[in-house]
Amino acid sequence: MTKVILKKKISRRIESGHPWIFANEVHAVEGDVAGGETVDVYTHDKKFMGRGYINPQSQILVRLLTRDKSETIDDAFFFNKLKEAWEYRQRLGYTENCRLVFGEADYLPALIIDKFSDYFVLQTLALGMDKWKPAIVQALEKLFSPKGIYERNDVPVRELEGMPQQKGFLSAPFDTQIIINENGLRMHVDLESGQKTGYFLDQHDNRRAIQHIVKGADVLGAFCYTGSFETHAGWYGAKSVLGLDISENAVAQARRNAALNGLENICTYQAVNAFDVLKQWSKDGRQYDVVMLDPPAFTKSRETIQKAITGYKEINLRGMKLVKKGGFLVTSSCTNLVQPELFLETIQMAAKDARRKLRQVTFQAQASDHPIIEGWENTNYLKFLIVQVL
Ligand code: SAH
Repeated sequence: MTKVILKKKISRRIESGHPWIFANEVHAVEGDVAGGETVDVYTHDKKFMGRGYINPQSQILVRLLTRDKSETIDDAFFFNKLKEAWEYRQRLGYTENCRLVFGEADYLPALIIDKFSDYFVLQTLALGMDKWKPAIVQALEKLFSPKGIYERNDVPVRELEGMPQQKGFLSAPFDTQIIINENGLRMHVDLESGQKTGYFLDQHDNRRAIQHIVKGADVLGAFCYTGSFETHAGWYGAKSVLGLDISENAVAQARRNAALNGLENICTYQAVNAFDVLKQWSKDGRQYDVVMLDPPAFTKSRETIQKAITGYKEINLRGMKLVKKGGFLVTSSCTNLVQPELFLETIQMAAKDARRKLRQVTFQAQASDHPIIEGWENTNYLKFLIVQVL
């Protein structure tokens, strides 16, 4: 097997068990380098570090799959990993929908699998993982006898690995418009064209966290996508809910979700730019009991973190101004580049500019089917904050 020898000085990241090995951390490669093949990684003084897959086209030269020298990387390896991942989720109480595999945090780098009842959506975001797609599909079939498996590899990161963007069926074709149950509600999910894998499962617990504060409230939800938070607000007894999203498509889906739950008279939606509208409405003196914000990641690169922080501050400032005294702001951020402390600081900066005082109700991360591993900052990405605005 091809051997990858690391430089003498090993980064803290590799020492902490993180599976990525960057090309500039490698001293030498002994043997053939074929993209996607399994290789062994050794320290400079010949100690076995792990086994993983290589891609000379990627800045991340190797992603480790195991640190156990006796473990073979084959179809059975993937079957066992998926089985373990499912057993873990079941122990946490998941039965119907969950992120079955959360990449690195399940020691399956670059693999995402979402389970939506009997349907599965998968993403293989690195060449070495893509190669094992048939084994992964086979494992899913054996473990779950699914009604359908769909590939959502229509994501630009694949190009960094020299792979095309693509999507399509990995099982016999099926109707990709499905309905899932979440927290007692029913939601339409579009597996083929919805954002990411179709539905943001990571906010599952956070949606429930709004239960008490929305009762009898006038609620404004910006960046609503298919209205998951908004439908929950209606379900939990809000007096009125207005959801905003820039995408006509998202708003149309949100309306369908309201109807599906008999909430079409409570939950209404508008396709608008939230930045513009929130600014205008605070000038107009509009006020809400609860304002919810769940914007997209404002940055994907370290170079533009400052831009993202400015974006978060600005939108939260605008949101806060629309909250009645004593009402609540529910605010999220989904980029791992803005770590939790920095997010809290940004919200405080917005409060200062808005001349409001905040009282923290809860500060949470993503649901537990997206495990966080300490020190692996790309696993700790979602921030969800509820504050009372005084
Ligand atoms: N709250 C949703 C997820 C939101 S994803 C859920 O739980 O499912 C972010 C959404 O912001 C996307 O649907 C995107 O269309 C929308 N968006 C992006 N820029 C926007 C803008 N300027 N104004 C309003 N919506 C915007």
